[in-house]
Amino acid sequence: GLRDSDDSVSGRVRVAVRLRPQNAEEIVADADFADCVELQPEFKRLKLRKNNWDSDTYEFDEVLTESASQKRVYEVVAKPVVESVLDGYNGTVMAYGQTGTGKTFTLGRLGDEDTSARGIMVRAMEDILANISRDSDSVTISYLQLYMETIQDLLNPTNDNISIVEDPKSGDVSVPAATLVDIRTYHDFMELLRLGEAHRVAANTKLNTESSRSHAILMVHIKRSVTDTESEISSDNYHSLHMSKNSKPPIIRKGKLVVVDLAGSERAHKSGSEGHTLEEAKSINLSLSALGKCINALAENSPHVPVRDSKLTRLLKDSFGGTARTSLIVTVGPSPRHRAETASTILFGQRAM
Ligand code: ADP
Ligand code: MG
Repeated sequence: GLRDSDDSVSGRVRVAVRLRPQNAEEIVADADFADCVELQPEFKRLKLRKNNWDSDTYEFDEVLTESASQKRVYEVVAKPVVESVLDGYNGTVMAYGQTGTGKTFTLGRLGDEDTSARGIMVRAMEDILANISRDSDSVTISYLQLYMETIQDLLNPTNDNISIVEDPKSGDVSVPAATLVDIRTYHDFMELLRLGEAHRVAANTKLNTESSRSHAILMVHIKRSVTDTESEISSDNYHSLHMSKNSKPPIIRKGKLVVVDLAGSERAHKSGSEGHTLEEAKSINLSLSALGKCINALAENSPHVPVRDSKLTRLLKDSFGGTARTSLIVTVGPSPRHRAETASTILFGQRAM
């Protein structure tokens, strides 16, 4: 992955692991057993227990312990991505892990009751709104669910089979049928997240499924009009406006932030036992393994990123380009009963580095 000091290496994936604290059930059920994960944040290392006397050690770009605050997680994982999006690049933050390990807690928590609990989506929007001009800039969002290779609009439930369109010239991908809502205030955004979540619950009830079996994808489009030219940006990302004699030409910078709360990774290799269908498991397997392949290609600097294998990777195509920044957060729990799932999550993260 992207090493700390090496800021010039963009377009690769920065990988953090986050361990959630033991929950009430685990405190009782696992009382006589050692946790399967031990973190050494000072060395950015994770130890995965193999048995009573042996463990495997893995290194990550960041290691977030069970006591890491939401604020710290945002700063480490997402803030650099948000900053580059404000500069006119594409950026992606995604969470991968077994259901119940904290993906939604990390990304989607609203923190109505306690602002310190707010997750990455809310903090990112707060940062964005604080850094744009209300007169000349625009922020629009769409919010999608991807279930069984079908894209649903979480901001308009009647819009339940959206196509991905690729610009033949630029290769940029978009979902023109998705509802785009202008965000003016933090309050607007919170209302939309709430609405999207309600629609997600309703859609999944209708489909007789659970949100852990689909991907939730928030897209934030930022268009800024700036007059300075101090930083270098790729020519696809700006267009000069009118030139005037006395002032520098304003430049439009377009950036896209994508936040992806991935389907539970356990669905990718188990089915039947937990009441979900084989078709769901196959579909999740398809998209997560396609995602894994794309991320591996990025990590290896391969010129060919195989985005065509799934809708998830097609949607994320812009995230895999040369100047895009991607942060992957893999989430794990401490329970030795889920050691195999935890091992597989860790492996996914390692392959991305
Ligand atoms: P996922 O989205 O991966 O299925 P959730 O985010 O829903 O998992 O988390 C499962 C449960 O664990 C929730 O009750 C959540 O509040 C709790 N949880 C997850 N991560 C943490 C954390 N870092 N600190 C405290 N509680 C957490
Ligand atoms: Mg979740």
